[in-house]
Amino acid sequence: MPRPTVTIIGAGLVGALLATLLGQSGHRVRLVEKRADPRRAGFAGGRSINLALAERGLDALRKAGLEAQVLAQAVMMRGRMVHEPNGTTNLQRYGLDDREVIWSVSRGGLNMLLLDAAEQAGARTHFGQALVDADLRTGTLQLQSADGTCRTLESAITIGADGAGSALRAAMAHESDLGERTDMLAHGYKELEIPPGPTEQTRFAIEAHALHIWPRGGYMCIALPNREGSFTVTLFMPHAGAHPSFETVTDATAASALFETSFPDALPLIVDLKRDFQAHPVGMLGTLYLERWHLDGRCLLIGDASHAIVPFHGQGMNAGFEDTVCLARLLAEPNDTGDAFAAFQAQRKPNTDAIAAMALENYVEMRDSVIDPHYLLKRELGRRLAEHAPGHFMSRYRMVSFTRLPYAYARERGRAQDTLLEQLLGKRRQLDGLDMDAAARTLRASLPPLPNLHDECHVLHPPPASDL
Ligand SMILES: Cc1cc2nc3c(=O)[nH]c(=O)nc-3n(C[C@H](O)[C@H](O)[C@H](O)COP(=O)(O)OP(=O)(O)OC[C@H]3O[C@@H](n4cnc5c(N)ncnc54)[C@H](O)[C@@H]3O)c2cc1C
Repeated sequence: MPRPTVTIIGAGLVGALLATLLGQSGHRVRLVEKRADPRRAGFAGGRSINLALAERGLDALRKAGLEAQVLAQAVMMRGRMVHEPNGTTNLQRYGLDDREVIWSVSRGGLNMLLLDAAEQAGARTHFGQALVDADLRTGTLQLQSADGTCRTLESAITIGADGAGSALRAAMAHESDLGERTDMLAHGYKELEIPPGPTEQTRFAIEAHALHIWPRGGYMCIALPNREGSFTVTLFMPHAGAHPSFETVTDATAASALFETSFPDALPLIVDLKRDFQAHPVGMLGTLYLERWHLDGRCLLIGDASHAIVPFHGQGMNAGFEDTVCLARLLAEPNDTGDAFAAFQAQRKPNTDAIAAMALENYVEMRDSVIDPHYLLKRELGRRLAEHAPGHFMSRYRMVSFTRLPYAYARERGRAQDTLLEQLLGKRRQLDGLDMDAAARTLRASLPPLPNLHDECHVLHPPPASDL
């Protein structure tokens, strides 16, 4: 019996990678995208020009045979470069060494590479076709093109990779209560740009191999490098309320004044601050909570369509890519599709719930804690324990970014480790005199060892030689 065609709605990052993996494992795949083909029309991004790619995303790309190609377009980021108000900078490494780094990739470049891969794997792509409605009982999808022309498409298996505002999710909700809730964050964002410098030596105006953060308590800026030397800067602050907020910083002049007082070292670098601020919209951020991801074997939601999260752990795409590996594996088994979809939700949901919570927690860490002396002391103690007892201690950030240990495990273990660090620190203000052997003994006595870090779920890959 030939397998039925799988229709994927949305040829963004997750949809295109899923189409690649399913195509490679012999499924017939149809990929339907509302935008024009970005390889011909240019990439109509709209948000986050670049993204941080970490081990979970890399693993999925590796399984699709695309890791080297993607990394050849990426910039390595070793850690966060913290810019204090007085202009001093300090690199806080993410991992132990250069085997534990994250990568800045262009959203448009990655999407186009994935579309090529999906087509090479046999997927048939249909651009400029928006899903506008669906009768999921009969498996009839209604598509509309930009000129308003409508057509119907029969689809026995439909997967919604159509992002946070998923049209397939809306159609599914007509048939059954999906237990949907979106918590909007009270903070929004605006994208700005540091352009490349004029010469090869000054191509990157600030350290290339870092994710830059200007933490300012209730608000912050971050900047991620692009290969040609520019940085995409994102200003995060509250939508409303006391200064600064998007309610009080409403125009380019107010934005300049904010940067003069709060980000003086960044101001001269963002050459077109006034133009960027005026031209770019304020982005909204939120967390989507969804109890039901599928209707038996007929349709399923994946990526942001089922678990959109705030971007402060740099894991939304990574989690979506991890979804694609899990789903492709389940669909390769000789199971009923409904059972595969149910297993997918059972395996993924506890983990995507955990990364949703960690992403919210990380906002406070990024905009505030990274310059708090107690946080820094705890971080240093954690680093020393990881050296002393590597089989027993790994920071939560490392578990999330450099391993494929389940997110839910990373969150629980991170909590237990944090309690232990607090206990070991007590009221200390420095680590001098702290007996690290005794601390490691306490750690071993109170927490079980970490899972085997050399098995399938934790792979330390030497980074490929970077030409940057
Ligand atoms: C500011 C910001 C920064 C971020 N930074 C990071 C980061 O550093 N690292 C990270 O891992 N994640 C990051 N993310 C999250 C990441 O962008 C998302 O998790 C990821 O894009 C989800 O991919 P997706 O394919 O599920 O959805 P999307 O990227 O939203 O793609 C959905 C696709 O479906 C198409 N579509 C929508 N509706 C229809 C329709 N009705 N019919 C047909 N097609 C449709 C869209 O045009 C689009 O191509 C960030 C997000 C934001 C907002």
